[in-house]
Amino acid sequence: MPAFSMNPDFPERLITWFNMHGRHDLPWQQHVNPYRVWISEIMLQQTQVTTVIPYFNTFMDHFPDCETLANAHLDEVLHYWTGLGYYARARNLHRAARIIMDEHGGIFPADIDQLLALPGIGRSTAGAIFSLACGQRHAILDGNVKRVLTRFHAIKGWPGLLQVELELWRIAEQHTPHKNVASYTQAIMDLGATVCTRRNPRCDICPVNNDCCAFQQSRQHEFPYPKPRKSIPVRKTIFAILENNQGEILLEHRPPTGIWGSLWAFPEFSSEDEIQSWVEKELGFSINSVVCKSMMRHTFSHFHLEIMPVHARLELQGNRIKDGDRYCWYEPSGKQYLGMATPVKKLLQEITFNNGE
Ligand code: SF4
Repeated sequence: MPAFSMNPDFPERLITWFNMHGRHDLPWQQHVNPYRVWISEIMLQQTQVTTVIPYFNTFMDHFPDCETLANAHLDEVLHYWTGLGYYARARNLHRAARIIMDEHGGIFPADIDQLLALPGIGRSTAGAIFSLACGQRHAILDGNVKRVLTRFHAIKGWPGLLQVELELWRIAEQHTPHKNVASYTQAIMDLGATVCTRRNPRCDICPVNNDCCAFQQSRQHEFPYPKPRKSIPVRKTIFAILENNQGEILLEHRPPTGIWGSLWAFPEFSSEDEIQSWVEKELGFSINSVVCKSMMRHTFSHFHLEIMPVHARLELQGNRIKDGDRYCWYEPSGKQYLGMATPVKKLLQEITFNNGE
């Protein structure tokens, strides 16, 4: 591994810059405690600050502490997460809150190994919780910090490679100061989010530009190295939007693992014939015709999903569902709190809008 000279005043310059230009009014910077920092850090994974703010505020209104979160039903937690994506994050938060209540007497773990043992908490999140909420010296290495450090030190290689990541951790540890660690942590995250941005970094106003290798060599756009490209496959599915004569839509509770785990979604099929036979078998009813809606595409990290929604109105009286745990009739304009995948929510909104016309 190459040896780097650690500029000793790197943290001081970041902190001075942060005190004058950093963000101090974010909701999770108020009434700071480990629980609030934890929720914000999980929401901020792969999600922009502006998107997270309203979700964070609503989440805190409903689950202001670990106990309320642990006591809530998972459906309710997923309901307030709907639209944020990466639902495993919400399921892990809920599981972790229950573990904190059951195994730690409701006290947030003060030991890093206990914190890392909780579902969904990795090394960077644990570092952020301890440094931001408790002022303990721990490094962090989220996407913003990786960008700043790979540019500042001109680190070659995609940061997702283990060897590169370990090198970045080593550098992150060395930069982390012994004093004012909370301000430093917030400062380096802010610098990455607002100055050392992915496109068009504002190097002219950057507090560490005179030592930044990438800037000094005009190579900012080379770092961080991108992930090696590979094409991702396309999968196809049919969403069956089955509406009864009360305007309720049939939803299916998905299994706890896999895509959209534990969320409610339309039953999925691979052909219209399959829908017909399933409705006859499960609901004892025949569909006369279906209306195909516009194709939708939803992209996951490892594949694209092409969705053909088909809508069928059933002249169906009463609840004929045999498996009441797995299926429910959902009233789109009603008050059922269910977590749903984004395309499902969007289609339900369209149906409500069209039915209201
Ligand atoms: S000088 Fe530019 S590239 Fe270097 S850390 Fe600052 S903003 Fe990033």
